[in-house]
Amino acid sequence: MYSDGKGSVESIAKKAKERGLKVIAIADHSSEHPLGLNEGKAIRRRTEIDYCQDKYGIRIVDAVECGIDADGKIVMPEHNFELVIASIHECLPAEEYCKRIIKCAKSCDFNILGHYRSSIFSTYDELCKLDLEVLDVLKENGIALELNTAHKAPPLELIDLIGDEAKKLVYSVGSDSHSLSRVGDVMWAFKALNSKLGKWKSILEVFDV
Ligand SMILES: [Zn+2]
Repeated sequence: MYSDGKGSVESIAKKAKERGLKVIAIADHSSEHPLGLNEGKAIRRRTEIDYCQDKYGIRIVDAVECGIDADGKIVMPEHNFELVIASIHECLPAEEYCKRIIKCAKSCDFNILGHYRSSIFSTYDELCKLDLEVLDVLKENGIALELNTAHKAPPLELIDLIGDEAKKLVYSVGSDSHSLSRVGDVMWAFKALNSKLGKWKSILEVFDV
């Protein structure tokens, strides 16, 4: 409701509670998006998040999803977000797509790379050398790779390709839900984790719930 998704913070919190979730992140688009968060919206949303955390007894992480621009930069309002996701939201050839991310990961501060190599935003023919470089840069900078259920991204061949190295990365499972019906829909991401990676650390530990 604070960008392009449907549902108020309260309706999302209520749905999450009904579905047995203990922690969720609400990550509206950042200020580069026409409907995205500005400073005022981020403050108002935080008030609602704090209220709903208490009311529903679940941890709600105050998050933002920033697009990565042509210079490999992200923009966001002045606000103390708890979690920052950076993602490409333009359809780009694979090489340009990867180069932008490498530049961004080396120079910007963010926690999670969103829907990497989603078929919606990347002309995905086959994996290239730069994909491996992206994963190395994530590892070096402590950035998590999102397993995104809505986009079914990253392509799991990528995880296969790097073999045991995949276990050295940190992953985030996401629904990328834009509607109430998809809140907590992380089945694809969890299946990917279990089948490809074995053990994983829960976000409950990361956010000390
Ligand atoms: Zn996105």
